[in-house]
Amino acid sequence: MSSLRLHHVSLPDHSGAYDLTVVDGHWQSVEPTPRVVPDDGVRTFDLGGRLLSAPFVDAHFHLDSVLTRLPNQTGTLREGIENWGKYKREHLSAEDVYRRATTYCERALAHGIQAIRSHVDVSDPRLLGVEALLQVREEWRDRIQIQLVAFPQDGFYATDKAEALLLRALDRGLDVVGGIPHHERTAELGRRSVVRLFDIAEERGLPLDFHCDESDDPHSRHVETVAEETRRRQLAGRVVVSHVTSSAMMDPYYLHRKLLPLVAAAGLHLVVNPRINVHLGGHFHHPAPRAMAPIKDFLAAGINVACAQDCNEDPWYPLGDADLLDVARMGAHLGHMMGREELATLFASVTTRAARAIGLDPEPLRPGQPADALLFAAPDPLEALRTAEHPVAVLRHGEWVIPPPPPASPS
Ligand SMILES: [Zn+2]
Repeated sequence: MSSLRLHHVSLPDHSGAYDLTVVDGHWQSVEPTPRVVPDDGVRTFDLGGRLLSAPFVDAHFHLDSVLTRLPNQTGTLREGIENWGKYKREHLSAEDVYRRATTYCERALAHGIQAIRSHVDVSDPRLLGVEALLQVREEWRDRIQIQLVAFPQDGFYATDKAEALLLRALDRGLDVVGGIPHHERTAELGRRSVVRLFDIAEERGLPLDFHCDESDDPHSRHVETVAEETRRRQLAGRVVVSHVTSSAMMDPYYLHRKLLPLVAAAGLHLVVNPRINVHLGGHFHHPAPRAMAPIKDFLAAGINVACAQDCNEDPWYPLGDADLLDVARMGAHLGHMMGREELATLFASVTTRAARAIGLDPEPLRPGQPADALLFAAPDPLEALRTAEHPVAVLRHGEWVIPPPPPASPS
């Protein structure tokens, strides 16, 4: 039986110091730090009051395009899709996807990411990305929990083969049904794609995650259809709408009186990708808008919001470093969220709120749960966001992936 004690840490949303014990890879106890540590022979790490948090969860990512580093001269979503299409036709192989995704996962784990929901492009008839990422999912199972979304990047009605390809990908064992209604040729095709994708997900008992209304069009309304299908089929909590950048441009009356109550009542999760949204959006307006869904308004309506990366060195975004603190910081700037509570909420948006959005345990630091955690040099979420340093230690299933640094010697 392996056991260890994490002595004297702070926890998000708690005051005071805590001790956590681990037995056989699971938390055994979470208690206020005692005056005297028991002399019970358990290996004890004195962590000096630093922040111990749930792991980072990246609720929206693309492992098949990561690290391709394709140029995008206009900085638009459309050029990104075109350049990725060309790359798929001319260069993509299963080995290529496997190699890039594996390299990225090594970096992600070192930076504290222990779960990734990755969309996988299923528009390519060879389904090379699907095969490669199924292998990556399996090989990384014990270190990073990877969920794969069947994502019809070019559109569900782009060709008459798209539905068959999506079904084939799901047959291979993908976890989530994806869609991109705003990218279909007409709004009506977008609406129909949502309904059909719900049928498919319902038949298979799978959750759904849409790239939804990712445009500067204030009249893009597919999130309405997603909300209504979720309500009608009683799938509250099982459906994510990602991006919804159109909501940054909408008429405030419609947003507040119609859309937000509809989304809240349906129980949708919103995943915002602050860096990508502000980079790809707002090109056709002057002055340029922020192009990110108004996080505060969604939260105030009672909607769970997660922030995610989306891209890292790919056709849509040339930067990125598997860094979810940077994502939360961008959310704070673009969302006018610098209050103490708001910053704590943004820290949760890349940890526990993100976990909830993709169906994982939103309260993993409690007895009986797998002992997965991050240790920061900072003492609390605000300071972690301010300093923007990667975690100094990473714990996975009760084992140190990166061990804590030795305590500073008294000067
Ligand atoms: Zn995406």
